Amino acid sequence: MIPGRAALAAFIAFLLAAPWLLTSFQVTLLDYIGLATLVSLGLVLLTGVAGVMSFGQQVFTGLAAYCTAVLTTRYGMSPWLTLPLGLALVAATALFLGAITLRLSGHYLPLATIAWGIGIYFVFGNLDLLGRHTGVPDIPALSVLGWKLDTGRRIYWLIWALALLALLAARNLLDSRAGRAIRALRFRSVMAESFGVDTASLKTVVFLYAALLAGLSGWLYAHFLRFVSPGAFNVNAGIDYLFMAVVGGAGQVWGAVIGASVLTLLREWLKELLPALIGYTANYDTVVFGALMLLLLQRARNGLAPAVARRLIAAPRGCAREPAAALARRGQPRAGERLLELRSAGKRFGGLVAVRELSFSVASGEILGLIGPNGAGKSTVFNLVTGVLRADDGEILFRGDAIGRLAASEIARRGICRTFQQVNLVGSMSVLENAALGAHLRGRHGTLGAMLRADRAEEAQLLQEAARQIERVGLAAHASDPASSLPLGQQRLLEIARALCADPVLLLLDEPAAGLRYAEKQALAQLLRGLRAEGISILLVEHDMEFVMGLVDRTVVMDFGEKLAEGLPREIQSDPAVLEAYLGGLE
Ligand code: ADP
Ligand code: MG
Repeated sequence: MIPGRAALAAFIAFLLAAPWLLTSFQVTLLDYIGLATLVSLGLVLLTGVAGVMSFGQQVFTGLAAYCTAVLTTRYGMSPWLTLPLGLALVAATALFLGAITLRLSGHYLPLATIAWGIGIYFVFGNLDLLGRHTGVPDIPALSVLGWKLDTGRRIYWLIWALALLALLAARNLLDSRAGRAIRALRFRSVMAESFGVDTASLKTVVFLYAALLAGLSGWLYAHFLRFVSPGAFNVNAGIDYLFMAVVGGAGQVWGAVIGASVLTLLREWLKELLPALIGYTANYDTVVFGALMLLLLQRARNGLAPAVARRLIAAPRGCAREPAAALARRGQPRAGERLLELRSAGKRFGGLVAVRELSFSVASGEILGLIGPNGAGKSTVFNLVTGVLRADDGEILFRGDAIGRLAASEIARRGICRTFQQVNLVGSMSVLENAALGAHLRGRHGTLGAMLRADRAEEAQLLQEAARQIERVGLAAHASDPASSLPLGQQRLLEIARALCADPVLLLLDEPAAGLRYAEKQALAQLLRGLRAEGISILLVEHDMEFVMGLVDRTVVMDFGEKLAEGLPREIQSDPAVLEAYLGGLE
């Protein structure tokens, strides 16, 4: 059995045995841990994986809790009806808050989440309908098939069944097409967009999922405690949830359980221990708790889970799976067709003109070398063509259509794929998964399909394609290593494999041979020739002139943002202007 499965089995065995082995008080603690696990699991995905920090999850917990409290006590509604109603309310609120805040960057987003957390606390505390600061008592217990869940021991089963389902769904999600895209959101959203990921809506989906988990926890909480009051949903609660996610190990699904357990137990223990030590009761536990958190964050930056959890969620990935049907490929355009055309394109950064009046075209089936000294504007051209930047002047056409105003993901959809000069990989993901991210647009299953594992056939196809392209660039032996473990030259090769996974029409390679040894360069040149023979066109930026001149069909030379010369490699090599500006040392 793989370690992940064994640990999961042990965890489930513990959950099954716990109510028979533990005291009522201890089972109640486990209930609290389960409720907190749901919320912090949402934060693991939102903050730990997608990089969106929220201090405001208690808002969603509170909304669902109050929704069911009021509807069941005042209107006698069944809790099974208030669950979908509460979750709908949470979803609507999350979509509204997400729409106005998720675009915020830097510190503004966490601040906004604190702001709405403070706001809702006052709403809960000041509305007559919600019982003001005294809250809503006498909430009915849940009952399932006539079985009343009116004790901590009884509701335990429901809480942990839901928590376990949520954990497994989150694990499934991270190990999928959508999950790879989510894992790229944090630092690599430009790259993700370049492979067709709609990062804005993906962020919203993760935000929504985290909110719904918090809402589910709130609904359970109301029927577990049978009483709600604003105190449970103040800003402290939001901070606690975030602590749980971080302490557990914010990138790891199982970190949610670990964080929720550690914080819940620690709080409880301090509440008992400190009065016994000091002799009188005061809120010293909060102070000691804060100090312990500081210590923990300083000692274990990545949380407590990594050692355990990395095995749980990461081990099986990148292993050989059953052979799958090959993905469909698009037809390549007829050789010689005008594929990409820049017409007087220009780009300024403030006063600096990075690209000026630049015109050239790439024909289908050719390798065009784009050369020029550092700072000439080559990478900027790549950014203009792939939609990372917008040109200030001129036009960019791909197969006759203007693409200058299209979103990066739409340009990717049309078959323009690139590598980055500054390597742009998700370091914690395996080599295989990084490559598979390139095939994003060749799959269609989203988050829900992934959670329910309805995506397995497609996922096998995507991973098989990734494995094929990794093999092609010579990285097969490293498939399951984290991308960050590769030397820089091989990371560049991985970027090529990722771009190939997208089934490109036009490949834009930004200094692919930098950092490669001589033999590796030869192999790369051979690979690029092979791609050309398949009909893939290549725009190549590279400094190694021997490499470029032996490979390309034509060359465009740039200097200070302008085109200096254009022609066959041997014409360029003897062009006096080029020799003077750039190639001086070559002859
Ligand atoms: P190359 O790839 O040919 O070395 P670049 O396209 O990276 O050149 O850069 C061209 C010029 O534009 C350089 O002077 C660079 O400093 C500047 N530049 C590139 N990107 C940016 C940016 N995002 N903001 C400001 N200046 C930039
Ligand atoms: Mg560059």
